[in-house]
Amino acid sequence: MKRLAYIFLVSLLWLALPVLSMASQGHAGPVTVQCPDEVGDGRAFAVWLTSDRAVDPVTVRWLGREITVALEPSEQGGFKAVVFLGWGLALQDPTNTLQVEVPTSDGPVRFAKAVAVLELEYPEEHLTVASNYTSPSEEEQARSARERELVLNALNTVTPERMWQLPFVRPVPGPVTSVFGVRRFFNGEERSPHKGLDLDGETGDPVMACAMGRVILTGDFFYAGGSVYVDHGQGLISMYIHLSEILVQEGDMVEPGQTIGLVGATGRVTGSHLHFGVSALRCLVDPAPFISGQVTGWE
Ligand SMILES: [Zn+2]
Repeated sequence: MKRLAYIFLVSLLWLALPVLSMASQGHAGPVTVQCPDEVGDGRAFAVWLTSDRAVDPVTVRWLGREITVALEPSEQGGFKAVVFLGWGLALQDPTNTLQVEVPTSDGPVRFAKAVAVLELEYPEEHLTVASNYTSPSEEEQARSARERELVLNALNTVTPERMWQLPFVRPVPGPVTSVFGVRRFFNGEERSPHKGLDLDGETGDPVMACAMGRVILTGDFFYAGGSVYVDHGQGLISMYIHLSEILVQEGDMVEPGQTIGLVGATGRVTGSHLHFGVSALRCLVDPAPFISGQVTGWE
């Protein structure tokens, strides 16, 4: 009860944080680039690309990764695209320069801009779990290393077409029991921080896909238990962890709100819940702003 009250308070503080809205515009030939001046540690941000005429696909580079997107005709006239990028929690990477490259008949034109990273305060959480999860055997370590490769491969997926829509569907209706970014101590030892959002649920409750996409990985993993990864296009991937049952297969297309699995307590958990994660071009970022529609730079 005490822990729940604490988490509730933390969630309230979380909602009270100001929305980061400082943004600036620049140009790369015919394309106007709009992106925030700063992004919170562990947060995603939107980069808007607009043009009053048709252009060839534009390449966006960030953290040594790149994505090439087509600007589509916009209802307001002209052409536009929006890409989500992220700053992984406590990322030790000195490069924070966004680069945009637009092909033109005179050769490529470029725009570059530094995006400052804002430190955010994240709470601490102390948990007790079965000891084999804090001291895994050699066999378990080898298993989790193999599974880590599968997950990294999935997170590296960048398909050019956009399938996502904002806001995301909340995958289960239950309250948040652990926010993104919590510094976690398992049996007294500090482990990697919490890189998803925990939503309360009972084993067997339906878990819904947050947006349209294609299932790119399913499995029963050592730490994560029953897992589903969905590619929403343009480097945006969602993940659903600790499932008791998986109701989709790799390659399936899913609709927003479609039931893709059931809540469970599989893997390293203290009780049944859904761990919901979002990756933007290989950075695990806070999923909450995607559900509220308040991703930095989105509006
Ligand atoms: Zn979690």
